[in-house]
Amino acid sequence: MSASLKGQCLCGDIKFRLDGPIIRSAACHCKQCQRWAGNYWPSASVSQDHLVLVTGSESLAWYESSDKAERGFCIICGSSLFWRLLDNKENWVAVALGAFNTPNELNEGKHIHTDSAGDYYNQINTYSED
Ligand SMILES: [Zn+2]
Ligand SMILES: [Zn+2]
Repeated sequence: MSASLKGQCLCGDIKFRLDGPIIRSAACHCKQCQRWAGNYWPSASVSQDHLVLVTGSESLAWYESSDKAERGFCIICGSSLFWRLLDNKENWVAVALGAFNTPNELNEGKHIHTDSAGDYYNQINTYSED
């Protein structure tokens, strides 16, 4: 994977860069991701050492969404950017695939927690098959 992947929040105040490989990608359908992102949340997990905040560190806030994890977002535009475990033992962070500049070669990977997928998600699939 390219070491020069870049991305930003909607307003552009927060800009980031990846200086290392993507460990894995996943599209999470849990109810927390649905409420946070408005849909399932596809992300790429990377070592925190490889996620470089280029600008906007003062606009990045973390919301503790459960007793296990917290979610990073832009306080200006509200973009749902990052997810990480509170204990952070494995030192990785998930980065929203939608925040990356395009074109890129990212893939949303495995869909997880699909048993929690919203009713609307199945309808989307039905429509796309027509
Ligand atoms: Zn923003
Ligand atoms: Zn989730």
